[in-house]
Amino acid sequence: MPDVMRAELWHAMADAAGLIRADGSIGETIYGEMTTLAADTGSVNLGQGAPGTDAPSDLIEAATTAMREGFNQYAPGQGHHEFLAAVAEQRRRDFSQPVAEDQVLFTCGATEALTASILALLPRGGTVLTFEPFYDAYPAAVTAAGGSLVTVPILPAPDGGFAPDWNLFDEVVAASHPSIIIVNTPHNPTGFVFSTADLKRIGDAAIAADAWILTDEVYEQLVLDGGVHVPPATAVADPKRVVTVSSAGKSWNATGWKIGWVIAEPRVREAIQAVKQFLTFTSGGPLQIAVARMLAEDGGFVDENRESLRARAEVLVSACRSVPGAHASIPASGYFTVMDFSELTDLDAFAINERLAERFSLVGIPVPALCREGSAAHQAYRASIRYSFCKSPADVDRAAQLFRSLAAELDQDPDTLRS
Ligand code: PMP
Ligand code: GLN
Repeated sequence: MPDVMRAELWHAMADAAGLIRADGSIGETIYGEMTTLAADTGSVNLGQGAPGTDAPSDLIEAATTAMREGFNQYAPGQGHHEFLAAVAEQRRRDFSQPVAEDQVLFTCGATEALTASILALLPRGGTVLTFEPFYDAYPAAVTAAGGSLVTVPILPAPDGGFAPDWNLFDEVVAASHPSIIIVNTPHNPTGFVFSTADLKRIGDAAIAADAWILTDEVYEQLVLDGGVHVPPATAVADPKRVVTVSSAGKSWNATGWKIGWVIAEPRVREAIQAVKQFLTFTSGGPLQIAVARMLAEDGGFVDENRESLRARAEVLVSACRSVPGAHASIPASGYFTVMDFSELTDLDAFAINERLAERFSLVGIPVPALCREGSAAHQAYRASIRYSFCKSPADVDRAAQLFRSLAAELDQDPDTLRS
């Protein structure tokens, strides 16, 4: 058979995402790898951000109805009209972002939206700037588009939260002239929520560099600390250069549906659609209709979901914070707490995660897996693990008990995790 290595792109994409092992074999994504570790060790899987509570029954009913109504063939390339209208209306209603239907494009999750946007908008050899840690799809998409990635860290701040290194941001923009700046707000994994002032600053930098701003707002409904999500398109001086990306998975506990969208100026939307149509053309016909009906209804589920996540965060994070010598973040948003073990051990996050799986049945995502080898963020999160509290209440309770057992063991023997 032909040599698979004679084509370079797939290998470069896997490499950019850190998936090539020392022996040359190809690893799974960190989410798959940690799911396997949890299964092999009988651990609570606090790794992948996949909810342990179900989608609302109204959403499931709406999908069933749409299937019975006959929405079972190809949807139009841009998406079903009902879906495009509902996304535009939801943006206006929830975030005061003026959106017309011809600006909206249906995508197979935020992942396809991001990849298609990068493929469409990055000049060959161009640079993409993103904040770090980052979602693992970004470097692979940038590599596919023939570009390079530069990063600015979001680091633990003295107030117990997180903050981007703004001085470095200015330096990196000036030095690298990015063609695209990716802004993931609310941010995975830190829960950092960019303020209007932060976004204005990014918007001005984008004007100076003549860059697009590509957003990733999949946690848009999940601000947990009483703050607000500000869509970058509503904060920057030149909203025409913003390409907004979001999806329904996190807001509606339906990550398997992969219903996402892009919002951009019509000409920009067309360019992104030109790429998207040859990735999937279309998908999820009846699910588009179901999500459209839920988006239009505003039936209270997202509020309930936010409350429920807040309660689960409280249970998990207070148990994490009972562990002496470790520091777990109080999440401003999203699904995750970031727990730093560096005072307790010289081990790195991967080794700590394995130790905790074997001895305490706890598995998370080592944060360095979401960073680039050798970067400031990689160093800062060397011994940090991301734990998801979006799991079922039973899993969250069990995990909280396990963290309390770890705390008790460390009280007895502070060197439990030392080496
Ligand atoms: N961006 C971020 C920051 C994410 O955490 C995720 C994972 N849900 C995605 C994008 C991908 O979203 P989707 O499942 O809609 O493709
Ligand atoms: N976004 C999810 C997370 O951060 C994972 C999605 C995936 O498995 N690719 O956990």
